[in-house]
Amino acid sequence: MSEFIISNYDELVNSQRDYFNTNQTKAIKLRVTTLKKLLTILETNENLLYEAIYKDFKKSKFEVYETELGLLYGEIKLAIDEIENWSRKQQVATNLINMPASSYILPEPLGVSLVIGAWNYPYLLSLHPMVSAIAAGNTVVIKPSEISPFTSALMAQIINTNFDAKYIHVVEGGIPESTELLKQKFDKIFYTGSTAVGKIIYRAAAEHLTPVTLELGGKSPGFVLADAKIKITAQRLVWGKFINAGQTCVAPDYLVVDEKIKDELIAEIKKQIIKIHGKNPENSEALTRIINTHHFERLIKLIDTKKVIIGGEHNLENLYIAPTVMDNVTFSDLVMEDEIFGPILPIITYTDLDWVINQVKSRPKPLALYAFTESTKLKNKILTEISFGGGAINETLVHLGNHHLPFGGVGSSGTGNYHGKFGFDNFSHQKAIHDKPTWFEPGIKYPPYTDFKFKILKKLF
Ligand code: NAD
Repeated sequence: MSEFIISNYDELVNSQRDYFNTNQTKAIKLRVTTLKKLLTILETNENLLYEAIYKDFKKSKFEVYETELGLLYGEIKLAIDEIENWSRKQQVATNLINMPASSYILPEPLGVSLVIGAWNYPYLLSLHPMVSAIAAGNTVVIKPSEISPFTSALMAQIINTNFDAKYIHVVEGGIPESTELLKQKFDKIFYTGSTAVGKIIYRAAAEHLTPVTLELGGKSPGFVLADAKIKITAQRLVWGKFINAGQTCVAPDYLVVDEKIKDELIAEIKKQIIKIHGKNPENSEALTRIINTHHFERLIKLIDTKKVIIGGEHNLENLYIAPTVMDNVTFSDLVMEDEIFGPILPIITYTDLDWVINQVKSRPKPLALYAFTESTKLKNKILTEISFGGGAINETLVHLGNHHLPFGGVGSSGTGNYHGKFGFDNFSHQKAIHDKPTWFEPGIKYPPYTDFKFKILKKLF
């Protein structure tokens, strides 16, 4: 759909820079009308959006709305209502040495931005950062993931036919296209995807000293403590783990479970899986498929049949893997090496909470962490002792559905955050201004530097 091919990305980026330099994208009115238009075209094309994602990986309409479109529409409406407020000059206090003056912060757009999206929530991960970019007054090039080709093509079609390329444009493609785009000078790069590729993006951005947000992945643990309410814990864990067939960046990757309640928890998890997906989950309309053969084969290798206690069945023909639970897993098993990103839930049993906390701390910082407990003391212990992006107590995933909370990782699970005003700030520079009147000039800062001036200077500081 794009008229731009690898050889003329500089034309695309230059046209966006020229347009940005006209200052038109800074007008609140344009930002609001653009977001209103985006909302209308998404709503008008909603059925096409459902069809494309079903073709990519059989994701149900309910889940597309619940985990992508509902959140996206909410963010667009919030930005429409708040842009004026968020863009306002913020008056701050002036310290003694700088008086008399007025001090304020002017949020300004960074300029030409690049959004590179991942395939697992294709609409949300490409278009949500775009909403923040536009709300903050930038132009934007969007590169969705080639791994979900139907949704990528549809986004290119509906965005590129409705918006001028000098303002908003979708470029389709994979590694060659991303690599070429990254040679361009952007004023902001917003990347969602794997930690390994995140390093490539960071290096490319360093060449132009472009600020970067990296929304990465990792192994997010779910702690189930001895005092957890087992039934509701199992219910919420099964939902959060197997939604989108586990292909969720913040899915509980594995569980660490107190030995005392492990058997009871496993029995409940089994009941919950049957309740949601039936005795044969292959027939479940609510179970999304694995995105492609490569990921299917990668996941099958992680299933240790000797340790499977629930599920384990799979079918390459329709890229189906049953919700699978593995027991007696250790931190040195293959399944514990990298992020699983599929419907396989390993359970590690512990008897000593300090030991298991140290195990988690000795690994890369997780994107999310979930703790199931009724104890305030133990909840606070986990929250303060382990560093992770964000998470939930007695729940999974939903922290990312609250725009009052920043969403992002820490360390190898990411840098920077977005959602709601955090997204607006992410695509803005906070310009700091000291605004001084001309009616008074104490003259202390000027030479000659006398003892008297030095005394005054010390007092003022
Ligand atoms: P990916 O890294 O393979 O691809 C993401 C994007 O990067 C795609 O648009 C792709 O074209 C591009 N890309 C891939 N290789 C590249 C290269 N060598 N140079 C330049 N660009 C390249 O990731 P994925 O498989 O699409 O997504 C899965 C990962 O993303 C998981 O680790 C998951 O946890 C993480 N993720 C994180 C979030 C978050 O919000 N933190 C959300 C979704 C997924």
